[in-house]
Amino acid sequence: MRADPPVQLPNDYPEIRAGVRALCADFPPEYFRDIDARRAYPEAFVDALTRAGWLAALIPAEYGGSGLGVCEASVVMEEINRAGGNAGACHGQMYNMGTVLRHGSAEQKARYLPAIARGELRLQSMAVTEPTAGTDTAAIQTVAVRKGERYVVNGQKVWTSRVQHSDLMILLARTTPMAQVKKRSEGLSIFIVDLREALGRGLTVRPIANMVNHETNELFFDNLEIPAQNLIGEEGRGFRYILDGLNAERAIIAAECIGDGYWFIDKVTRYAGERVVFGRPIGQNQGVQFPIAEAYIELEAANLMRFRACELFDAGKPCGAEANMAKYLAAKASWEAANACLQFHGGFGFAADYDVERKFRETRLYQVAPISTNLILAYVAEHVLGLPRSF
Ligand SMILES: Cc1cc2nc3c(=O)[nH]c(=O)nc-3n(C[C@H](O)[C@H](O)[C@H](O)COP(=O)(O)OP(=O)(O)OC[C@H]3O[C@@H](n4cnc5c(N)ncnc54)[C@H](O)[C@@H]3O)c2cc1C
Repeated sequence: MRADPPVQLPNDYPEIRAGVRALCADFPPEYFRDIDARRAYPEAFVDALTRAGWLAALIPAEYGGSGLGVCEASVVMEEINRAGGNAGACHGQMYNMGTVLRHGSAEQKARYLPAIARGELRLQSMAVTEPTAGTDTAAIQTVAVRKGERYVVNGQKVWTSRVQHSDLMILLARTTPMAQVKKRSEGLSIFIVDLREALGRGLTVRPIANMVNHETNELFFDNLEIPAQNLIGEEGRGFRYILDGLNAERAIIAAECIGDGYWFIDKVTRYAGERVVFGRPIGQNQGVQFPIAEAYIELEAANLMRFRACELFDAGKPCGAEANMAKYLAAKASWEAANACLQFHGGFGFAADYDVERKFRETRLYQVAPISTNLILAYVAEHVLGLPRSF
């Protein structure tokens, strides 16, 4: 029997960390602050990351990538957030990649992966969520009907991110009506949509203004035609494939929260040591120290679970429980750190120039997306602990 992989320590991967930190040094918090104020996309940053090969981390060497695992990919994303940036602008390619790698055909991999590795194509979008279904993914109503060598797609998606900065998108649609399948999660399929061909030819995109500077959209499909060869894996098994990919997504987003959390702890620790009120640094008061210490303890614990989830994923082992728990712990810890950081900056926490309010908004997202905290609790209660199903 294969032994479990050794547990990585949170500060392992020094070369990756040093490389990403060096790149991020050219894109300091001022850069992201300006992008946030203009509600723009950090194009120069994502380009630099692509040119340096970091966004091809998961692509196997035979297709021109670095052939690394989710452990390493998650460190790349962590370091971006730890440096004051926002990996949300480019994390999609990391977790979408797993879907193509694990379930794509040899022909699909040969067609897309080398071009993605060279930075000529971006695979940054995934369209799963729908306005009426919400978290109940099996209830989606977008349909793809096979007509000869094409599928014809009709329906609507919401919160599909980075469509404007992606060439390819993973789409989940129902290919067999719910009434004709035994389990409601059957009969769903995933496709690669070439956005360059689809936009204006059956696909309409409407941006959603939102609290974070996160480029995200409503999508409307009106008889969009997709070549049948763009179906990923077997027709009808898309829900299972999406779940596999979601575990990588949860582990990578946990790492981003860890990066945020350390950024908040560093920032508030420095500030609390320097800011003098009533003749002493505010950090000398235990009322200030304890929430910071508590957030740090929770962050360190979350980080261990994050590496556990990444290692299991990379070893091809089941990791649903660990990936969900890592995401839960990391999002909670980064939020506690954010709250302490904002609170102990006093009024300055609200000033855009300090970056705290921006990072506060950015990290808050992860209590809701890509999966809400309640749904993780339900998963652990019902799938790990075996309590009766609530839905
Ligand atoms: C900025 C942003 C970017 C996003 N990007 C993408 C993307 O690129 N692709 C994509 O497909 N989706 C994306 N999403 C969607 C995201 O994954 C969903 O918003 C999230 O999964 C929650 O779904 P919902 O918004 O439909 O909430 P709902 O499912 O309507 O739930 C609303 C609330 O009710 C709670 N709730 C629901 N059911 C239960 C229950 N049974 N028990 C307890 N509580 C329950 C939930 O926890 C939640 O807090 C994005 C969302 C945002 C905000």
